[in-house]
Amino acid sequence: MKTADQILVKQINKSIVLNFIRKKGQISRADIAKKTGLNRSTVSALVDELISDGLIVEKGIGTSKGGRKPVILAINKEAGNIIGVDLGVNYILVVLVNLLGEIIRERRVNISAQNSVEKNIEMLLGLIQEVLKNAPVALKGLLGIGIGVPGIVNYEKGLVLMAPNLRWVNVGLKDIVEERFKVPVFIDNEANAGAIGEKWFGLGKKATNFVYVSAGIGVGTGIIINNELYRGSSGLAGEMGHMTIDMNGKACSCENLGCWEEYASEKALFRYLKEQSGSCGGNSKIDLKKIDEMTVFDVVDTAKAGDPLAVSAFRWVGKHLGVGVANIVNTFNPDLVVIGNTISMAKDIIIEEITKEVQQRSFISRYSKVTIAPSQLNMHACAMGAVSLVMSKVFATPEV
Ligand SMILES: [Zn+2]
Repeated sequence: MKTADQILVKQINKSIVLNFIRKKGQISRADIAKKTGLNRSTVSALVDELISDGLIVEKGIGTSKGGRKPVILAINKEAGNIIGVDLGVNYILVVLVNLLGEIIRERRVNISAQNSVEKNIEMLLGLIQEVLKNAPVALKGLLGIGIGVPGIVNYEKGLVLMAPNLRWVNVGLKDIVEERFKVPVFIDNEANAGAIGEKWFGLGKKATNFVYVSAGIGVGTGIIINNELYRGSSGLAGEMGHMTIDMNGKACSCENLGCWEEYASEKALFRYLKEQSGSCGGNSKIDLKKIDEMTVFDVVDTAKAGDPLAVSAFRWVGKHLGVGVANIVNTFNPDLVVIGNTISMAKDIIIEEITKEVQQRSFISRYSKVTIAPSQLNMHACAMGAVSLVMSKVFATPEV
């Protein structure tokens, strides 16, 4: 009979081996032992168990460094499926991925914050159902559902405390989704999810300390310190979109004045377009009367076509993003700042503006190299982060 401590040690070691294979892609038993410091017989026993659990597979023979040729191990991507949901303010994106995080299918629908909470939840459940219908069968089926939400959440309880742009207050989303699909459900703030998504699948893989800035309808940030998401004492850290950058500035939905997101988000972009419409001497194709019908995607396309008003709107937003990023660089001394969500689609304009502001305003950036880059996950950072909420549990606690 094993003691509780022995079981825990075994689970930790099994998780180390499993994660090592995931990170390396393909690796032999001997290399796992060498690089993790676990002894060879322990690694061999754990690998055998992981193979019989169906979580890893033998992928053929590698090249010999003298002696017997090693057997190469890899994650069995068909071991299980995971659902990731990006609940936006005006859309829902659902992705179904395999155990390697490869997207098998995805669906997106537009929603309205004017809808009742019940109606938007029903749409979310319906979209998950649709994605799961006729999904490829995985060995262990659906392992869980992760959801990124545009608001503050109680991560432990899976409760959406407040999503101001969606008008949600105290919604027990985890319980509702678990009740319907009978699998574990994890809920987090969308920028936290984006940061974890970057850590697992994006530029953050190689960074130890970085900040993910989600610049969409609002601005949120996810902070990774020493490879872990920083949640703060009540789990509400990262609301840097609401740091004051103008003491007497624009009124924000959080009831403060002059919050960063009022100057660095889609809200700011459209306000600028309305205020500056007509300022380009008739050279812009953007019609003041039709601005309300435009989506941010339309403005990105218009800017890419060289429209002077659309370009100057993104320059203005980029400059203000840069002011906040300079504060972030001075505060956290990160290796990397990733800019994601819709505003990052105009990356050619905004990254240049942000970099300029950071160079001018952040003295830390003169002493420590910081990379400022657009998300390579594009509009999938939040959904893939939601996937990672589930994956991190699967990989941290394999059955023993
Ligand atoms: Zn605010």
